[in-house]
Amino acid sequence: MRIDLHTHSDRSDGTTTPTELVREAREGGLDVVGITDHDTTDGWEEAAKAAREEGITLVRGLEISCKHEGHGVHLLAYLPDPTHEPLVQELDRILEGRQARLPATLARLQDLGIDIEEADVRRIAGDAAAMGRPHVADALVDKGVVADRGEAFDAYLGSRGPAYVNRYAAPLEAMLHTVTEAGGVCVLAHPWAKRHNFDALDEAGLAALKQHGLAGVEVDHQDHDTATRERLRAIARNLDLVATGSSDYHGAGKRDHDLGCNTTDPEQYERLVELARSAAVASGRPAPEVLIP
Ligand code: AMP
Ligand code: ZN
Ligand code: FE
Ligand code: FE
Repeated sequence: MRIDLHTHSDRSDGTTTPTELVREAREGGLDVVGITDHDTTDGWEEAAKAAREEGITLVRGLEISCKHEGHGVHLLAYLPDPTHEPLVQELDRILEGRQARLPATLARLQDLGIDIEEADVRRIAGDAAAMGRPHVADALVDKGVVADRGEAFDAYLGSRGPAYVNRYAAPLEAMLHTVTEAGGVCVLAHPWAKRHNFDALDEAGLAALKQHGLAGVEVDHQDHDTATRERLRAIARNLDLVATGSSDYHGAGKRDHDLGCNTTDPEQYERLVELARSAAVASGRPAPEVLIP
C-alpha cells in the first residue's frame, strides 16, 4: 500500500487540476491519495469523481493556515464536514486575508520597481479558491524577473523578503477544536521545517496540542532531514501521535516534491482513519463514507 496524504491542486497553489492530480497519483502507483489544498475544500468534489473513475482511494483534506505563539503553522485537517459553520467562517476569513494581501504585495513590488498588475496574477490564479504568493511568483517568472517560484520566494516573497506581507491565520488551538467538532482529524504539517524554527512545537508543546485534539504529526516531509525525522518520529511514538509521511506535491510549482516521494505507513493511516471515524461519530455525524474507491 502506497499512501500519500498531502498534495495540492490548482484549487490553491498546485499546478494540476484535481482530476489530473488523482490521475497522476494512480499512474504513479499510489493506492491512497489525500487532497489537501490550502484553506479550501473546493477540489473535493472533482477529486472524488476522478478517484472513483481511476479506482484510487481519496482522503479529503485541507491544509489550514494557522498561527501559534506568534508563528505560522500549517494544519492538515482530514475528513471534516465542510459545511460545519465555524469551520466555514474561519476559512472564509483566511481566504479574504489572502485576497486583501495581493494588492499590498504588488504595492511592495511596485516600490521595488517591479510592475505587476493585479489582473495578471488573477489570470494566473484562474479560479483557484486560495490565492497565494506562488501565483505572484508565477507572474514574476512570466515577467522574466526570476527564473522560478523558488527564486521569487528567495528574492522577494519569503517571510524575510522585501515584498512579504502578513495575512490572517487562524489560532491553532481553536482550530484543532473546530476541526474535531466538524468530525475531522488533525495532523500538523511539516512541524519542524527550518523556516518555522521555534520551540512551541517541541515535545512538551506537541503534548499540549494533543490535549486540544491534535492526532498526528507529519514526520516524513522534504523539509525534514533524516535526523529531524528520526527525532520527531520518536516523539510521536512517546506521545502516541500518528506519524504520517507525504510529498506536499504542488505539480510543477515545487521542485523535489514528486507524488509519493514520502509515504505514510499503512498502520498509521488506519489509525488516522479510525480516529476520523470516532470524531465523526462523536460529533453526531455518520462515519465518513470516505476512502473506499
Ligand atoms: P501563501 O500560501 O500565499 O502564504 O504562500 C505559501 C506557499 O508558498 C506554501 O504553500 C508553499 O508551498 C509555497 N512556497 C513557499 N516557499 C516556496 C518556494 N521556495 N518555492 C515554491 N513554493 C514555495
Ligand atoms: Zn502551497
Ligand atoms: Fe505547508
Ligand atoms: Fe502543503
